[in-house]
Amino acid sequence: MKKKKGKLGSAARYGARYSSVLKQKVNKIEKIQKRPQICPQCGRKSLKRVSFAIWECSKCGLIMAGGAYSPRTRIGLAAEKIVSGKGSKEEVLSLLEEENKEEKVEA
Ligand SMILES: [Zn+2]
Repeated sequence: MKKKKGKLGSAARYGARYSSVLKQKVNKIEKIQKRPQICPQCGRKSLKRVSFAIWECSKCGLIMAGGAYSPRTRIGLAAEKIVSGKGSKEEVLSLLEEENKEEKVEA
């Protein structure tokens, strides 16, 4: 018999507690958090989360600070563009607007 799979994924461990909306949000975050990400130094898919906002590549040994649950965030990209002076004002604003849109959809 095939095991029944819900939309809660890893958050199914909470059982009947904490409301399904919150568990769906946790599942969405943990999907990104737990799978290996692409390393910005060597390009291999071996960047893993060590701790809160700390990411380590198991192939080249790079240890970097990033987002809490994903190595790169839109806010981080916007900040990089502002600091480097390469991004235009419109680019930065569009990145920040996308971030706000996502929050509204999730809430
Ligand atoms: Zn690497």
